[in-house]
Amino acid sequence: MSPPDYRAMLAVAVEEARLGLAEGGIPIGAALFARDGTLLGRGRNRRVQENDPSAHGETDAFRKAGRQRSYRDTLMVTTLSPCWYCSGLVRQFGIGTVVMGESANFHGGHDWLRAHGVEVVDLGDAECIAMLGDWIAAHPQVWHEDIGQD
Ligand SMILES: [Zn+2]
Repeated sequence: MSPPDYRAMLAVAVEEARLGLAEGGIPIGAALFARDGTLLGRGRNRRVQENDPSAHGETDAFRKAGRQRSYRDTLMVTTLSPCWYCSGLVRQFGIGTVVMGESANFHGGHDWLRAHGVEVVDLGDAECIAMLGDWIAAHPQVWHEDIGQD
C-alpha cells in the first residue's frame, strides 16, 4: 500500500480551520481518516461559535466520524499540535497516527504520544503557522482561554 497523502489530508483540516475563521472562531481544523485515505469525519474548533470549550477540532472531527470498530488504522489530521485533552482522546481510543500541520504556535502532547507508540508527523506547514499565528496575535485572550491558561 502506498503511504497516505498527508498533504491532501491536511488540506481538509485547513479547509475546516478557514471555515472556523470565517465564523469568527479559532482557526483550528481537523479530520479523521482511514489509512486508505477515506475521510471518516471532519471538524473545527467551535469554542466561540457554540460557546463550547470542549469542541476542539479533533474532538469535533472524532464525534462527526461516529462509532468506529477500531482506531488503530486511523489518522487524526489536525492543523495544530494536539492539546492534552485531544492527545488524551488519541490515547484513549488508540488512534495510530497523528498528522499535524504545525507545532510552532503551540506545543501540545505530541511528544508524549510519540513516546507511547503513536506515529506523529509534523508537516511544519507555513500556511497553518501563519493563519493561527495571525489570529493569536489579534485575539490573545480567547487563545489563552482555549489552551487553559489564566
Ligand atoms: Zn484540543
